[in-house]
Amino acid sequence: MSLTYIVNGKIVLPDSVVCGKALVFDAEAGKIAGVVDGAPSDAEIIDAKGLYVAPGLLDMHIHGYLGADTCDADVRGIRTMAEGVAQNGVTTFLPTTMTVAKADIVAALDAVRTAKRESAAWQGAEILGVHAEGPFINPSKKGAQAEENILTPDADFILENADIIKVVTLAPEMDKDHAAIKRLAQDGRVLVSMGHTDATFDEAMSAARDGVSHATHLFNAMSALQHRNPGVVGAALAAENVSVELIADTFHINPGLYTIVAKTKGDKMVLITDCVRAGGMPDGEYELGGQPIFLKGIECRLADGTIAGSVLRLNCAIKNVLDHTALPLYEVFNMASLNPAKRLGVADRLGSLEEGKDADIILVDESINVIRTIKKGRTIYEA
Ligand SMILES: [Zn+2]
Repeated sequence: MSLTYIVNGKIVLPDSVVCGKALVFDAEAGKIAGVVDGAPSDAEIIDAKGLYVAPGLLDMHIHGYLGADTCDADVRGIRTMAEGVAQNGVTTFLPTTMTVAKADIVAALDAVRTAKRESAAWQGAEILGVHAEGPFINPSKKGAQAEENILTPDADFILENADIIKVVTLAPEMDKDHAAIKRLAQDGRVLVSMGHTDATFDEAMSAARDGVSHATHLFNAMSALQHRNPGVVGAALAAENVSVELIADTFHINPGLYTIVAKTKGDKMVLITDCVRAGGMPDGEYELGGQPIFLKGIECRLADGTIAGSVLRLNCAIKNVLDHTALPLYEVFNMASLNPAKRLGVADRLGSLEEGKDADIILVDESINVIRTIKKGRTIYEA
């Protein structure tokens, strides 16, 4: 046992923020030992100097960062992402593929498998598995995904790769009789998410009954909530079992919606970045799924103006929600840590600063700038 005490911090727990206590972790085991009144005089100390001591963040939808993209199928690029997002307080992530040629998706899955094996030696975030966004989507809601690579939902393909795929985004109306949805739900290893979909409210509700339990970037690339046609947005909000992703960059959706979604979905609201390779890079031209994209400020677009992913950082998403709501700070942190951990079935190990969980800890200031990131008890980033 080699216990380390983080003192003088404001400790962000799932249901409160605690001051005047110490967070203790076992650096050797990489586990949290608990929250105690103070540190022994000879103990290993990290002085948080008044910063928030919060759980490491979990991004379940991120395509790329710092010039790299999951679909490059390049292990070095995935390492660039893993080490890059650690600077934003992310300690776990799901490299996310998009609608590219099937052979390219297969290659990307293999690259992530290799990266996952090698990543324990990196100074970066943990790779939990892949979020496969498409190719099983509706061409009419393709957004920035290339139409020629769209396929009808194929449960066999997903299940053959269920060792690495943790989430699949599909359009329920493209899945005849919801055959794929039902098989995937029965198997239980892969979270089925509706996205890039033009389903009606009734179709989406029936998909939720058949096994869809998540909604990919709520509001974006799905049928809208109208008062006589509540659409996929209405179904995602209404269906109790469905959790929702939100891109809280203030640009993808109006910040006025943050409170509405939080009040409706509770612990089923999940902040994601949907970040593309232009994330962390200067303004200019980049590539997404084989198409050129143009970054200007916080906006990424195709040549025709279609919004193409984001350059959001997950710590900034937390800041944006705090700035535009009156929600308690711990609840907003949960949206980027405990809530996605629950949805992915890893909350026994990840997502909060509770005894026995991995020592994934971040120190952040009042503006949610990341000062230090600790993964399994090891510092992987320091500002
Ligand atoms: Zn995406």
